[in-house]
Amino acid sequence: MAEVLIEKLTKSYDGTVKVLDGVDLHIAQGELVFLLGPSGCGKSTLLRILAGLVTADSGSISFDGRNIMSLPPEKRRAAMVFQNYALWPHLNVFENVAFGLRMEKTPRKEIEKKVMESLEQVQMERYARSAVTQLSGGQQQRVALARALAVEPALLLLDEPLSNLDANLRDTMRREIKRICTERKLTALYVTHDRREALSMADRAGVMHKGKLAQIGTPDEIYNHPADSFTARFLGDVNGLPCGGGIRPERLRISEEKGKLSARLLERAFFGDSCEWLFEVPGAGKVLVRELGAPARTIGKEYFLDYDEAFLIPAPESDDEK
Ligand code: ADP
Ligand code: MG
Repeated sequence: MAEVLIEKLTKSYDGTVKVLDGVDLHIAQGELVFLLGPSGCGKSTLLRILAGLVTADSGSISFDGRNIMSLPPEKRRAAMVFQNYALWPHLNVFENVAFGLRMEKTPRKEIEKKVMESLEQVQMERYARSAVTQLSGGQQQRVALARALAVEPALLLLDEPLSNLDANLRDTMRREIKRICTERKLTALYVTHDRREALSMADRAGVMHKGKLAQIGTPDEIYNHPADSFTARFLGDVNGLPCGGGIRPERLRISEEKGKLSARLLERAFFGDSCEWLFEVPGAGKVLVRELGAPARTIGKEYFLDYDEAFLIPAPESDDEK
Protein backbone atom coordinates (compact mmCIF):
# COMPACT_ATOMS: atom_id res chain seq x y z
CA MET A 1 0.00 0.00 0.00
CA ALA A 2 1.26 3.40 -0.91
CA GLU A 3 1.18 6.94 0.35
CA VAL A 4 -0.36 9.10 -2.37
CA LEU A 5 0.37 12.75 -3.08
CA ILE A 6 -1.61 14.70 -5.66
CA GLU A 7 -0.47 18.24 -6.42
CA LYS A 8 -2.04 21.01 -8.51
CA LEU A 9 -3.84 18.60 -10.81
CA THR A 10 -5.74 20.27 -13.65
CA LYS A 11 -7.84 18.86 -16.46
CA SER A 12 -9.99 20.34 -19.18
CA TYR A 13 -11.62 18.17 -21.85
CA ASP A 14 -12.54 21.03 -24.17
CA GLY A 15 -9.75 23.51 -23.46
CA THR A 16 -12.17 25.96 -21.78
CA VAL A 17 -13.95 24.44 -18.79
CA LYS A 18 -11.57 23.29 -16.08
CA VAL A 19 -13.07 20.07 -14.74
CA LEU A 20 -10.18 19.91 -12.27
CA ASP A 21 -8.67 23.25 -11.33
CA GLY A 22 -5.68 22.66 -9.09
CA VAL A 23 -6.58 19.65 -6.94
CA ASP A 24 -4.23 18.97 -4.02
CA LEU A 25 -4.75 15.82 -1.99
CA HIS A 26 -2.62 13.73 0.32
CA ILE A 27 -3.68 10.18 1.21
CA ALA A 28 -1.69 8.56 4.00
CA GLN A 29 -0.69 4.92 3.71
CA GLY A 30 -3.64 2.77 4.76
CA GLU A 31 -6.07 5.67 4.77
CA LEU A 32 -9.62 5.54 3.35
CA VAL A 33 -10.32 8.96 1.86
CA PHE A 34 -13.67 9.94 0.34
CA LEU A 35 -14.39 12.53 -2.30
CA LEU A 36 -17.89 13.89 -2.35
CA GLY A 37 -19.47 16.15 -4.86
CA PRO A 38 -22.47 16.64 -7.11
CA SER A 39 -22.74 14.83 -10.44
CA GLY A 40 -20.42 16.34 -13.05
CA CYS A 41 -17.98 17.93 -10.59
CA GLY A 42 -15.03 15.85 -11.82
CA LYS A 43 -14.89 12.93 -9.38
CA SER A 44 -14.60 10.19 -12.01
CA THR A 45 -12.14 12.29 -13.97
CA LEU A 46 -9.83 12.44 -10.96
CA LEU A 47 -10.03 8.67 -10.42
CA ARG A 48 -9.39 7.99 -14.12
CA ILE A 49 -6.35 10.25 -14.03
CA LEU A 50 -5.03 8.36 -11.00
CA ALA A 51 -5.62 5.04 -12.75
CA GLY A 52 -3.87 6.31 -15.87
CA LEU A 53 -6.98 6.08 -18.08
CA VAL A 54 -7.13 9.85 -18.65
CA THR A 55 -4.18 12.24 -18.98
CA ALA A 56 -4.05 15.38 -16.81
CA ASP A 57 -3.10 18.74 -18.34
CA SER A 58 -0.74 19.58 -15.49
CA GLY A 59 0.12 18.72 -11.92
CA SER A 60 1.75 15.69 -10.39
CA ILE A 61 0.87 12.40 -8.71
CA SER A 62 3.29 10.34 -6.68
CA PHE A 63 2.99 6.97 -4.98
CA ASP A 64 5.48 6.60 -2.11
CA GLY A 65 7.40 9.60 -3.36
CA ARG A 66 7.73 8.28 -6.91
CA ASN A 67 6.16 10.34 -9.69
CA ILE A 68 3.84 8.03 -11.64
CA MET A 69 2.41 10.53 -14.16
CA SER A 70 4.23 9.00 -17.11
CA LEU A 71 3.55 5.37 -16.17
CA PRO A 72 0.96 3.40 -18.16
CA PRO A 73 -2.09 2.07 -16.20
CA GLU A 74 -0.71 -1.46 -15.72
CA LYS A 75 2.48 -0.15 -14.10
CA ARG A 76 0.70 2.06 -11.57
CA ARG A 77 -0.92 -0.63 -9.43
CA ALA A 78 -4.05 1.48 -9.03
CA ALA A 79 -7.06 -0.85 -9.20
CA MET A 80 -10.48 0.55 -9.89
CA VAL A 81 -14.00 -0.59 -8.92
CA PHE A 82 -16.69 0.95 -11.11
CA GLN A 83 -20.35 1.71 -10.47
CA ASN A 84 -21.44 -0.66 -13.25
CA TYR A 85 -19.05 -3.47 -12.12
CA ALA A 86 -17.38 -3.67 -15.58
CA LEU A 87 -16.90 -7.44 -15.41
CA TRP A 88 -16.15 -9.47 -18.52
CA PRO A 89 -19.36 -11.37 -19.34
CA HIS A 90 -17.55 -14.11 -21.28
CA LEU A 91 -15.30 -15.01 -18.32
CA ASN A 92 -16.43 -16.83 -15.17
CA VAL A 93 -15.97 -15.41 -11.69
CA PHE A 94 -12.53 -16.98 -11.18
CA GLU A 95 -11.22 -15.75 -14.52
CA ASN A 96 -12.55 -12.24 -13.95
CA VAL A 97 -10.68 -12.03 -10.66
CA ALA A 98 -7.58 -13.67 -12.17
CA PHE A 99 -7.46 -11.25 -15.10
CA GLY A 100 -5.05 -8.67 -13.66
CA LEU A 101 -2.78 -11.38 -12.28
CA ARG A 102 -2.57 -13.11 -15.67
CA MET A 103 -1.68 -9.76 -17.26
CA GLU A 104 1.17 -9.52 -14.77
CA LYS A 105 2.27 -13.08 -15.68
CA THR A 106 1.85 -14.26 -12.11
CA PRO A 107 2.69 -18.00 -11.69
CA ARG A 108 -0.39 -20.23 -11.93
CA LYS A 109 -0.24 -21.54 -8.32
CA GLU A 110 -0.05 -18.02 -6.98
CA ILE A 111 -2.97 -16.91 -9.16
CA GLU A 112 -5.08 -19.74 -7.72
CA LYS A 113 -4.16 -18.70 -4.18
CA LYS A 114 -4.67 -14.96 -4.61
CA VAL A 115 -7.95 -15.33 -6.50
CA MET A 116 -9.44 -17.65 -3.87
CA GLU A 117 -8.23 -15.43 -1.02
CA SER A 118 -9.81 -12.38 -2.63
CA LEU A 119 -13.06 -14.24 -3.29
CA GLU A 120 -13.12 -15.37 0.35
CA GLN A 121 -12.64 -11.81 1.50
CA VAL A 122 -15.83 -10.80 -0.30
CA GLN A 123 -17.57 -14.09 0.56
CA MET A 124 -17.86 -15.26 -3.04
CA GLU A 125 -15.57 -18.31 -2.99
CA ARG A 126 -18.54 -20.64 -3.62
CA TYR A 127 -19.17 -18.89 -6.93
CA ALA A 128 -15.66 -19.23 -8.38
CA ARG A 129 -16.86 -21.32 -11.33
CA SER A 130 -20.14 -19.44 -11.91
CA ALA A 131 -20.87 -17.27 -14.90
CA VAL A 132 -20.86 -13.62 -13.86
CA THR A 133 -24.01 -13.07 -15.91
CA GLN A 134 -25.93 -15.31 -13.48
CA LEU A 135 -25.02 -13.24 -10.43
CA SER A 136 -27.09 -10.50 -8.80
CA GLY A 137 -25.86 -6.90 -8.89
CA GLY A 138 -24.55 -7.14 -5.35
CA GLN A 139 -22.67 -10.37 -6.13
CA GLN A 140 -21.20 -8.85 -9.28
CA GLN A 141 -19.94 -5.89 -7.29
CA ARG A 142 -18.31 -8.29 -4.82
CA VAL A 143 -16.52 -9.97 -7.72
CA ALA A 144 -15.39 -6.59 -9.05
CA LEU A 145 -14.03 -5.77 -5.61
CA ALA A 146 -12.24 -9.14 -5.43
CA ARG A 147 -10.69 -8.45 -8.83
CA ALA A 148 -9.29 -5.16 -7.53
CA LEU A 149 -8.02 -6.76 -4.31
CA ALA A 150 -6.35 -9.67 -6.10
CA VAL A 151 -3.63 -7.50 -7.63
CA GLU A 152 -2.73 -6.08 -4.19
CA PRO A 153 -3.05 -2.52 -5.45
CA ALA A 154 -0.91 0.35 -4.23
CA LEU A 155 -4.09 2.42 -4.42
CA LEU A 156 -7.68 1.18 -4.53
CA LEU A 157 -10.04 3.46 -6.45
CA LEU A 158 -13.79 3.12 -5.96
CA ASP A 159 -16.12 5.09 -8.24
CA GLU A 160 -19.62 5.13 -6.70
CA PRO A 161 -19.42 1.34 -6.25
CA LEU A 162 -22.73 1.01 -4.39
CA SER A 163 -24.91 3.35 -6.43
CA ASN A 164 -26.56 0.57 -8.43
CA LEU A 165 -27.48 -1.50 -5.36
CA ASP A 166 -30.67 -1.26 -3.32
CA ALA A 167 -30.64 0.45 0.07
CA ASN A 168 -30.35 -2.63 2.34
CA LEU A 169 -27.56 -4.14 0.30
CA ARG A 170 -25.75 -0.81 0.26
CA ASP A 171 -25.68 -0.76 4.07
CA THR A 172 -24.20 -4.28 4.20
CA MET A 173 -21.62 -3.57 1.50
CA ARG A 174 -20.61 -0.31 3.17
CA ARG A 175 -19.63 -2.18 6.33
CA GLU A 176 -17.85 -4.89 4.35
CA ILE A 177 -15.82 -2.51 2.23
CA LYS A 178 -14.84 -0.61 5.36
CA ARG A 179 -13.85 -3.88 7.07
CA ILE A 180 -11.77 -5.04 4.09
CA CYS A 181 -10.00 -1.69 3.78
CA THR A 182 -9.12 -1.80 7.47
CA GLU A 183 -8.06 -5.46 7.50
CA ARG A 184 -5.87 -5.14 4.43
CA LYS A 185 -4.65 -1.65 5.39
CA LEU A 186 -5.62 -0.45 1.93
CA THR A 187 -4.85 3.03 0.72
CA ALA A 188 -8.11 3.89 -0.94
CA LEU A 189 -9.87 6.78 -2.63
CA TYR A 190 -13.63 6.36 -2.71
CA VAL A 191 -15.84 8.67 -4.73
CA THR A 192 -19.53 9.13 -4.12
CA HIS A 193 -22.33 11.69 -4.21
CA ASP A 194 -23.91 9.98 -1.17
CA ARG A 195 -23.01 11.94 1.95
CA ARG A 196 -24.16 9.19 4.32
CA GLU A 197 -21.81 6.74 2.65
CA ALA A 198 -18.90 9.16 2.99
CA LEU A 199 -19.62 10.29 6.54
CA SER A 200 -20.14 6.75 7.83
CA MET A 201 -17.07 5.15 6.21
CA ALA A 202 -14.35 7.75 5.70
CA ASP A 203 -11.18 8.34 7.68
CA ARG A 204 -11.25 11.73 5.97
CA ALA A 205 -13.59 13.12 3.35
CA GLY A 206 -13.26 16.00 0.92
CA VAL A 207 -15.95 17.95 -0.87
CA MET A 208 -15.31 18.94 -4.49
CA HIS A 209 -16.63 22.20 -5.83
CA LYS A 210 -15.77 24.09 -9.03
CA GLY A 211 -12.84 21.82 -9.83
CA LYS A 212 -11.22 22.21 -6.42
CA LEU A 213 -11.38 20.52 -3.06
CA ALA A 214 -13.52 22.93 -1.06
CA GLN A 215 -12.66 21.26 2.23
CA ILE A 216 -11.17 18.03 3.52
CA GLY A 217 -11.27 16.68 7.05
CA THR A 218 -12.67 13.99 9.31
CA PRO A 219 -16.42 13.36 8.89
CA ASP A 220 -17.01 15.19 12.18
CA GLU A 221 -14.98 18.24 11.08
CA ILE A 222 -16.59 18.68 7.70
CA TYR A 223 -20.14 18.02 8.93
CA ASN A 224 -20.06 20.03 12.16
CA HIS A 225 -17.58 22.71 11.13
CA PRO A 226 -17.95 23.17 7.38
CA ALA A 227 -15.70 25.85 5.92
CA ASP A 228 -18.37 27.31 3.66
CA SER A 229 -22.05 27.04 2.94
CA PHE A 230 -21.56 24.87 -0.16
CA THR A 231 -19.89 22.18 1.95
CA ALA A 232 -22.45 22.65 4.72
CA ARG A 233 -25.40 22.25 2.38
CA PHE A 234 -23.88 19.37 0.46
CA LEU A 235 -23.48 17.39 3.68
CA GLY A 236 -26.91 18.00 5.17
CA ASP A 237 -29.80 20.39 5.78
CA VAL A 238 -29.00 23.87 7.06
CA ASN A 239 -31.43 26.46 8.46
CA GLY A 240 -30.76 30.15 7.93
CA LEU A 241 -31.18 32.12 11.18
CA PRO A 242 -32.00 35.78 11.81
CA CYS A 243 -28.39 36.31 12.99
CA GLY A 244 -27.21 35.41 9.47
CA GLY A 245 -25.60 32.07 10.33
CA GLY A 246 -27.08 28.60 9.75
CA ILE A 247 -27.64 25.64 11.85
CA ARG A 248 -28.40 21.98 11.30
CA PRO A 249 -31.98 20.79 12.11
CA GLU A 250 -30.81 18.33 14.78
CA ARG A 251 -28.95 21.10 16.65
CA LEU A 252 -32.13 23.00 17.49
CA ARG A 253 -34.02 22.29 20.72
CA ILE A 254 -37.73 22.95 21.05
CA SER A 255 -38.99 24.47 24.28
CA GLU A 256 -42.27 25.91 25.58
CA GLU A 257 -40.57 28.23 28.07
CA LYS A 258 -37.46 29.84 26.63
CA GLY A 259 -34.96 29.97 23.79
CA LYS A 260 -33.11 32.32 21.46
CA LEU A 261 -35.85 32.28 18.82
CA SER A 262 -39.61 32.36 18.98
CA ALA A 263 -41.21 30.11 16.41
CA ARG A 264 -44.67 29.05 15.30
CA LEU A 265 -45.13 25.35 14.54
CA LEU A 266 -46.43 24.76 11.01
CA GLU A 267 -46.02 21.07 10.17
CA ARG A 268 -45.01 17.69 11.53
CA ALA A 269 -43.47 14.80 9.58
CA PHE A 270 -43.15 11.48 11.42
CA PHE A 271 -40.46 8.94 10.41
CA GLY A 272 -40.93 6.33 13.12
CA ASP A 273 -37.56 6.75 14.82
CA SER A 274 -37.49 10.50 14.40
CA CYS A 275 -39.65 13.48 13.67
CA GLU A 276 -39.26 16.68 11.63
CA TRP A 277 -41.00 19.87 12.67
CA LEU A 278 -41.34 22.86 10.40
CA PHE A 279 -41.49 26.25 12.13
CA GLU A 280 -42.00 29.82 10.99
CA VAL A 281 -39.38 32.07 12.60
CA PRO A 282 -39.68 35.87 12.25
CA GLY A 283 -36.73 37.18 10.27
CA ALA A 284 -35.64 33.70 9.14
CA GLY A 285 -38.68 32.16 7.44
CA LYS A 286 -39.11 28.38 7.54
CA VAL A 287 -36.90 26.52 10.00
CA LEU A 288 -36.67 22.74 10.20
CA VAL A 289 -36.05 20.90 13.47
CA ARG A 290 -35.23 17.19 13.65
CA GLU A 291 -35.49 15.19 16.85
CA LEU A 292 -35.50 11.59 17.99
CA GLY A 293 -38.90 10.23 18.96
CA ALA A 294 -42.02 12.29 18.40
CA PRO A 295 -43.39 14.07 21.45
CA ALA A 296 -46.89 15.58 21.24
CA ARG A 297 -46.89 19.20 20.04
CA THR A 298 -49.59 21.51 18.77
CA ILE A 299 -49.62 22.77 15.19
CA GLY A 300 -50.13 26.54 15.09
CA LYS A 301 -48.74 27.07 18.60
CA GLU A 302 -45.85 29.39 19.50
CA TYR A 303 -42.68 27.67 20.80
CA PHE A 304 -39.07 28.66 21.43
CA LEU A 305 -36.01 27.28 19.66
CA ASP A 306 -32.61 27.21 21.28
CA TYR A 307 -29.15 26.24 20.09
CA ASP A 308 -25.49 26.26 20.97
CA GLU A 309 -23.54 29.00 19.17
CA ALA A 310 -20.66 26.58 18.62
CA PHE A 311 -22.75 24.86 15.93
CA LEU A 312 -23.48 27.93 13.83
CA ILE A 313 -22.42 27.49 10.21
CA PRO A 314 -21.05 30.29 7.99
CA ALA A 315 -23.73 32.29 6.20
CA PRO A 316 -24.25 31.77 2.45
CA GLU A 317 -23.73 35.53 1.92
CA SER A 318 -20.08 35.17 2.94
CA ASP A 319 -19.35 32.73 0.10
CA ASP A 320 -18.68 33.46 -3.55
CA GLU A 321 -21.25 30.74 -4.18
CA LYS A 322 -24.16 33.20 -4.42
P1 ADP B 1 -18.51 13.13 -11.89
O1 ADP B 1 -17.86 11.79 -11.85
O2 ADP B 1 -18.24 13.97 -10.69
O3 ADP B 1 -19.98 13.05 -12.16
P2 ADP B 1 -17.00 13.49 -14.35
O4 ADP B 1 -15.56 13.48 -13.96
O5 ADP B 1 -17.55 12.24 -14.94
O6 ADP B 1 -17.88 13.97 -13.09
O7 ADP B 1 -17.26 14.67 -15.37
C1 ADP B 1 -16.87 16.00 -15.10
C2 ADP B 1 -17.19 16.87 -16.32
O8 ADP B 1 -16.38 16.49 -17.40
C3 ADP B 1 -18.63 16.74 -16.79
O9 ADP B 1 -19.07 18.00 -17.21
C4 ADP B 1 -18.54 15.77 -17.92
O10 ADP B 1 -19.56 16.00 -18.85
C5 ADP B 1 -17.17 16.08 -18.52
N1 ADP B 1 -16.53 14.88 -19.11
C6 ADP B 1 -16.28 13.72 -18.47
N2 ADP B 1 -15.67 12.85 -19.29
C7 ADP B 1 -15.52 13.48 -20.48
C8 ADP B 1 -14.95 13.12 -21.74
N3 ADP B 1 -14.39 11.91 -21.92
N4 ADP B 1 -14.99 14.04 -22.74
C9 ADP B 1 -15.53 15.26 -22.54
N5 ADP B 1 -16.09 15.67 -21.39
C10 ADP B 1 -16.09 14.80 -20.36
MG1 MG C 1 -18.70 9.90 -11.91
